[in-house]
Amino acid sequence: MANLQKSVPENVQGAFFVDQTCIDCGTCRQVDPATYAEAEDYSFVYHQPQTDEEIREALRALVSCPTGSIGTTTDQPVKTVMDDFPLPIEENLYYNGFTSPKSYGASSYFIQHPEGNWLVDSPKFLPHLIGKFEAMGGIRYIFLTHSDDVGEAARYAEKFKATRIIHEQEAWSQPEAERLIEGFEPVQFLPDFTIIPTPGHTQGSSCLLYKNWALFTGDHLWWEAQEQRLAMPTHYYWNKQKQLESSKKLMNNHFEWILPGHGNRVKLPEASMQVAMKALISIINECSQVNLLNRKEPALRLRRELRKPTALPFPNSDLRPSQKLAASAMRK
Ligand code: SF4
Repeated sequence: MANLQKSVPENVQGAFFVDQTCIDCGTCRQVDPATYAEAEDYSFVYHQPQTDEEIREALRALVSCPTGSIGTTTDQPVKTVMDDFPLPIEENLYYNGFTSPKSYGASSYFIQHPEGNWLVDSPKFLPHLIGKFEAMGGIRYIFLTHSDDVGEAARYAEKFKATRIIHEQEAWSQPEAERLIEGFEPVQFLPDFTIIPTPGHTQGSSCLLYKNWALFTGDHLWWEAQEQRLAMPTHYYWNKQKQLESSKKLMNNHFEWILPGHGNRVKLPEASMQVAMKALISIINECSQVNLLNRKEPALRLRRELRKPTALPFPNSDLRPSQKLAASAMRK
């Protein structure tokens, strides 16, 4: 529970606050960017919600916080928003909220499907979510994008007798996973589900492509809302070249949604997504300050680097004319 006495100094006065236990995972800023913003390496409340709907959004961020670092003195009970989760994104796609500190607040998702529901990475293991998943038909498959974001997958697998799917290179993080993906070619797992190994961030990072429409990317790729472009890790690679090759490989696929573990999700028309991907690859190709991923670095530092809006050393103003054109076309 957040402690008002430890409130960070940047909070504007009012009912909501962030305290000093914030680990800067970015979840609150993604769930409710109208209330929460980023200071040096933590979040703060820059605008106090006023209307009922604004308060509801702020509370959704509160219950999604992995570390209980958001507090409120509002009369509206927090429990009133818990039922909002899993939160519909579009059609049968849902955002689970309740991010786990075990995956540093990574987003997880739920796909309701007539042939069995999917969990993509893992939220906290909570009675509330378990009950909601049961009511929605249970969980048949758990897709794990990479070792950092397995969270409570083992407990969900046991509870729902679900099949965990993870790349063999990441299996050390989930040694009892029921299904390992081998090699680095895309695997048509089921007619609507393709698993695309995208090594780079980690050796066995993988994306899940659903219906040639929604791509679940883990920490391989995300959207920078402020700069209106795609981004990926630039300082903490397992292998930079593999990361680039993986991104190029993704361009052979069709998708409109990018649903990441960290960073913002985005939906673009397919043609605009291709432009965005090309722009990203072009920028990354020019990136000169890339270090190999040091897996012994503290997770906190790694995660901070992953979510930095300025992770790429080329702010928009420094883009080459062709890249500016691409970014402009992407926004149309
Ligand atoms: S959601 Fe993440 S960024 Fe926001 S207050 Fe909690 S720990 Fe900090």
